[in-house]
Amino acid sequence: MSTSALDQHREVNAAPGALDAALDAIKQYGVRFVYFQAVTITSRVLGKVVPAEQFARLATRGVMQHRTAMANLQAGRDGVLMAGGVGASEYCAVPDLDTFQVLPWDHSTARVFCSLYEPDHLEENAGVPLATDSRGLLKRLHASFTERTGLEMRTGTEPEMTWEGEGFETTFRPDSSPAYHIEHLERYRAIYQKVIDYASFMGFEMVEGDFEDAGQVELNWMYDHANLTADRLVTYRQICKQVARELGIEASFMPKPGVGYMGNGCHHNWSLWKDGVNVLAEPGRSELHLTDAGRFAVGGVLNHTPGAMLVMGSTVNSYKRFWDAGQFAPSRINWGMDNKTCTMRLSSNGRLEYKLPDASCNPFLTHAVLLAAIDDGLKNQTDPGAPTVGDIMSEVDVAPRVAVVGAGPSGCFTAQQLRKQWPEVEVTVFDRLPTPFGLLRYGVAPDHQGTKNVIRQLSRVFDDRTRFVGNIELGRNLSIEDLRAAFDVVVLATGLSGDRRLGIPGDDLPGIVGSGRFTRCVNDHPAAGDLPTVGRRVVLVGGGNVAMDIIRLLSKQPDEFTGSDLHPDTLGRLRSEGPRRIDVVVRSTPTDAKFDPVMMRELAHLASTEFRLADAGVLATAESSDPRSAALAHVVERESPAAPATTVVFHFGSTPVEVIGTDRAEAVKVRTGVHTTTLACDTVITAIGFESAVNDDLDLTLYRDADPGEDFLAPGLYRTGWLHSSTGALPEMRARARALAARIRRDHAGHHPARPGLVAIPYEVIDRTVDFDGSMRIDEAEVASASPGRIRQKVREVDAMLALARTVPAESVC
Ligand SMILES: Cc1cc2nc3c(=O)[nH]c(=O)nc-3n(C[C@H](O)[C@H](O)[C@H](O)COP(=O)(O)OP(=O)(O)OC[C@H]3O[C@@H](n4cnc5c(N)ncnc54)[C@H](O)[C@@H]3O)c2cc1C
Repeated sequence: MSTSALDQHREVNAAPGALDAALDAIKQYGVRFVYFQAVTITSRVLGKVVPAEQFARLATRGVMQHRTAMANLQAGRDGVLMAGGVGASEYCAVPDLDTFQVLPWDHSTARVFCSLYEPDHLEENAGVPLATDSRGLLKRLHASFTERTGLEMRTGTEPEMTWEGEGFETTFRPDSSPAYHIEHLERYRAIYQKVIDYASFMGFEMVEGDFEDAGQVELNWMYDHANLTADRLVTYRQICKQVARELGIEASFMPKPGVGYMGNGCHHNWSLWKDGVNVLAEPGRSELHLTDAGRFAVGGVLNHTPGAMLVMGSTVNSYKRFWDAGQFAPSRINWGMDNKTCTMRLSSNGRLEYKLPDASCNPFLTHAVLLAAIDDGLKNQTDPGAPTVGDIMSEVDVAPRVAVVGAGPSGCFTAQQLRKQWPEVEVTVFDRLPTPFGLLRYGVAPDHQGTKNVIRQLSRVFDDRTRFVGNIELGRNLSIEDLRAAFDVVVLATGLSGDRRLGIPGDDLPGIVGSGRFTRCVNDHPAAGDLPTVGRRVVLVGGGNVAMDIIRLLSKQPDEFTGSDLHPDTLGRLRSEGPRRIDVVVRSTPTDAKFDPVMMRELAHLASTEFRLADAGVLATAESSDPRSAALAHVVERESPAAPATTVVFHFGSTPVEVIGTDRAEAVKVRTGVHTTTLACDTVITAIGFESAVNDDLDLTLYRDADPGEDFLAPGLYRTGWLHSSTGALPEMRARARALAARIRRDHAGHHPARPGLVAIPYEVIDRTVDFDGSMRIDEAEVASASPGRIRQKVREVDAMLALARTVPAESVC
């Protein structure tokens, strides 16, 4: 009759004398409790506590545990427990008696590792090894490898890890390294002494240790059979956690606890032995070399390295270690003779160092995969190619990771130009809003859809190397320094959202509204609030294109907005009851004014508006070839409607000197030459330029020494667009972006980028973000809900935008 693996294990434990060593230790140390330990797929240690008097009975029978424990009792997205579900049978954990150890910090407790089996009662597979027991898997794999090849894999790991807590901070000069400093080790004396003492008590042969970076310590023990090394690595972590508990600090095995610091690797140093001889080296040969068997084994491991990432670097945090290039983490699949920049290094004759695994790995799985890859290389005689020579890190021309803050036209043009001039570059474009395109969406007039169409062109900028990250406000959700720590290059393109004030008495009276706020309201910007009431007498200060937009918006009749995206409610607020008069106060002459002739000429299409000049003489002195004067003449000399709904009067060469009013603006005193006129009004709109908003959280004062016309603020930090200089239309923004991209390329070509980019941004920040697809969902919903005669109806509340952005379409859920 055949017996199962479970039966055989029980028989071994029940054999005469098998329990003696454990029972002696129980007696000698007064052990009262024993942990029956198993190791999960993520290398978490779990198990049961057994009173010492039950040890002999349960050591020969085993303890039962729910099988989903091997997947950390974690549920999938469907809420079903992984690795079997709630109704799955339990497994049986039987101790491997040679792992019995008394805990050095409390002799009343011992621990033993268990092998796991399917339970006896199954109709099929009763008592076979449990497939999800990674520790058992390594044991079986190694045993069959040895049986077939006569070889045994020995390994020694380099368990880097980080200590953190009060009194254990590491201070050192920026741009230097605390590595190997005995001073730092001295401050960590309590830590390393306890760890080494405890580990030695548990049978480790401790050999050396050092301090490597802020909080990072590596303590090594002697290499051994891979199965033992894996057991010890798990035990080592338990020891470190205990020491941390005793000292009131934290012991972390995160692969990358912080950007800019060394990651916690767990290099596996390995060799292959047959009959006590290391087959990777030729006996007696001293120069660095590798035998054929060694070369084939290396070939196998390199061949399987892409797939091996699943277990060598299995967490999101693992990838941060690899992204932080320049910090001794490998970035290419290669090998070399004592070359620290390679994934596999022949560090000395007979010893190969595999740098892929990190501190959080499951050592049973990493060793199992390493062994299987070696086996495959040996079987297939895989050629690893010639060893890599030289510093692979400095040879790789990796493009930098760039953060652009502000997804307005300037930010988008910058991303576009960077990708055009340096295709490998990775760009992340942040914006405080859930949608990109800045003033193209919220400034350019709703009846200028032709200009807004640039959005279509800019939408093509976003792909897998140019990401949009919306709903992140610099200064609130992230600081400039956060971004500079995460990205090689940061470009500020946040525009200017404040309206320049008139700077005259009375300029703070209610009833005065800046053109920025006015146009944001008209464009349904979520932070703009309601459109201020505009009465029948308006004084508009300014003679640029924005002023032209405002004249048009205040003068157009409802049917003239067909094809726009003006919200019907906004239209209602723009209209006045009865005829309206707009006095436009322009400082310069028509020739020197800022408006584009084409914008002025467009006014001539307003059918129910009459245009006049306060002083007809301004055109008499203009050159006939002057395009602005010609455009103005075209507008004011056109035949006026019989009963105008709006009358626009231009006051060129005029400057406002005071806003008059008690509770709100009632009139504006204007000087024209030596004359002063008072223009009655109920609303004043200023269109005289933009500046940083007063409540802007973005503190640029640190960079106030930067030359006003300069796009460079500090190393790796630039600005562009309106933030660079406060005027200009889209063609100028594109030209600035092109020049800036060229400058970034010049400044950063040949530099080795060191920063990981978006992955370094904390999860709680990333959690709130909206990606480009999300922003497109908002766009689609707006187009779908357009009212008759409109091309879209913008969503005005950020919460509603976020809800739309996060609604995943049914067809994409599988
Ligand atoms: C009313 C108006 C009408 C215009 N009409 C035209 C026109 O018809 N044709 C034309 O060519 N040009 C027009 N322009 C000019 C054009 O809009 C600008 O040239 C252009 O928008 C400037 O681009 P920008 O990216 O520098 O700034 P913006 O367009 O303002 O973009 C800045 C972006 O940064 C984001 N942001 C701001 N602060 C933060 C922060 N702290 N964190 C994260 N993100 C932030 C904003 O949300 C915004 O998306 C007009 C401008 C205005 C004001």
